[in-house]
Amino acid sequence: LMDHLASFGNDPSDKPPCRGCSSILVEPYIKCAECGPSPFLLCLQCFTRGFEFKKHESNHKYEIMTSDFPVLEPSWTAQEEMALLEAVMDCGFGNWQDVAYQMRTKNKEECEAHYMKNFINNPLFSSTLLNLRQIEEARTADTFQSHET
Ligand SMILES: [Zn+2]
Ligand SMILES: [Zn+2]
Repeated sequence: LMDHLASFGNDPSDKPPCRGCSSILVEPYIKCAECGPSPFLLCLQCFTRGFEFKKHESNHKYEIMTSDFPVLEPSWTAQEEMALLEAVMDCGFGNWQDVAYQMRTKNKEECEAHYMKNFINNPLFSSTLLNLRQIEEARTADTFQSHET
């Protein structure tokens, strides 16, 4: 997967690599809004894993660096974004009461508004995150050779 993603980067010299895995960053990637002055950049895969390094913590505010996707709301942390996607998968789309209950940090209205605004209108972005997560889960399942029924 990493080789595949990295192959999209044509010019490795114009920005630093991912701090997590040192891969060449391709859009969309994540820029921490709290770490600096040198930019703390992460690929989506490291971002979804909640990568932390020195002063950088996974609940820092962040920007999504891309020319194709709008920046998500700074009031939502990376963990909350992932928790929301997970909760919607677990509880089902439209079941905002249960989604909010699973989220704990956001209420029903916030969950619905945020999801509709940032994910329904950006299917490519949400599917990218979900695909990375599924790949990660499949890899983990392979490692442990466990099969839940
Ligand atoms: Zn990375
Ligand atoms: Zn940071």
